[in-house]
Amino acid sequence: MNFPLDKFKQIPTPFYYYDMSLLQYTLDEIKRCIAGFPFKVHYAVKANANATILEQIRRAGLGIDCVSGGELAAAISAGFAGNEIAFAGVGKTDKEIAAGIDSDIFCFNVESLPEMEVINEIAASKGKVARIAIRVNPNIDAHTHKYITTGLNENKFGINVPQLNDVVDAALAMQNVELIGLHFHIGSQIRETEPFIMLCEKANELLQHLEARGVKLSIINVGGGLGINYDDPDGDAIAGFDQYFGIFKQHLKLREGQELHFELGRAVVAQCGSLITRVTYVKTGIVKKFIIVDAGMSDLIRPALYQAHHKIENISATGTPTETYDVVGPICESSDCFGTDETLPITHRGDLIALRSAGAYGEIMASRYNCREFPAAIYSE
Ligand SMILES: *Cc1c(COP(=O)(O)O)cnc(C)c1O
Repeated sequence: MNFPLDKFKQIPTPFYYYDMSLLQYTLDEIKRCIAGFPFKVHYAVKANANATILEQIRRAGLGIDCVSGGELAAAISAGFAGNEIAFAGVGKTDKEIAAGIDSDIFCFNVESLPEMEVINEIAASKGKVARIAIRVNPNIDAHTHKYITTGLNENKFGINVPQLNDVVDAALAMQNVELIGLHFHIGSQIRETEPFIMLCEKANELLQHLEARGVKLSIINVGGGLGINYDDPDGDAIAGFDQYFGIFKQHLKLREGQELHFELGRAVVAQCGSLITRVTYVKTGIVKKFIIVDAGMSDLIRPALYQAHHKIENISATGTPTETYDVVGPICESSDCFGTDETLPITHRGDLIALRSAGAYGEIMASRYNCREFPAAIYSE
């Protein structure tokens, strides 16, 4: 990525930098892959709810997947119509459900029987019928980090397959919910094809089963989870959309009139964002050299939370000679570390460092821990 270094020199660090033309290219690639198919992508706003980014995503024609009342409000204020919004989450409160019904959202992705009962009651009190899809936990191991796998029986999400019949019966018996589909989401940062193929097979099996019972569904929602290349953000700036959508084109047997919905988050926004931070000190220890930067886990928590690694680049110094460093933040936690034994050009106080692929689950997860300021956001145009 070409960073505008002259512009950066004027800006207080740390800040998130978003390459809006890369975001546009990513959105264009998604549109190219789904053109001509009854596919619809709802962007998972939890990956990044930045208003400028939401605006560009809205203009590209994607819908929204939200998981809280706050996200619903962010989507509405970014101009998304209610019928472009799906609402998931295991713990929707009465207030959040009421807000969704008031906004006439496209669909609630329902994760339990008690939740469905509450949606039915609140919709009834408003004289409305709420569309719902049942989130099924397909018991598929996404082979990803245990904190971001969601489709196993032991996870808190969704309805387990053996309980599906009863929940479908309950939905059909309710006056103020309309069952329109099934929803799945098996995890995040999935870079293998196999879990998605297994998901298609599971969905086919359940669709056939429900069809045999006379249950008609108009949407199948296969969630998100497509991973990106954190090691090579420049070589692989665009996620494997062709392959990913190709799996569903090949393996998922949609019925006449059915639509297939996706809820991609990370794959839409991760590569367009970088966290830009300045080197405060270079410190020589007994066995290690440390680069201490002015960004910390309060700005980008993924390394501390998931042992994730973001590619680290010194964008002020390039080439040789190099040195081996641990790159750490200023926060009083040992987990406040962005990389160990990183090979970087000889680095000095004042150099700018880019933590790459930080557009998803970066800025949105920032906190004020240690009473730090939130990082700013800067856009390429
Ligand atoms: C987090 C989430 C997504 C998006 O996941 P990504 O890995 O960012 O694509 C989609 N659907 C649901 C229900 C989610 O919770």
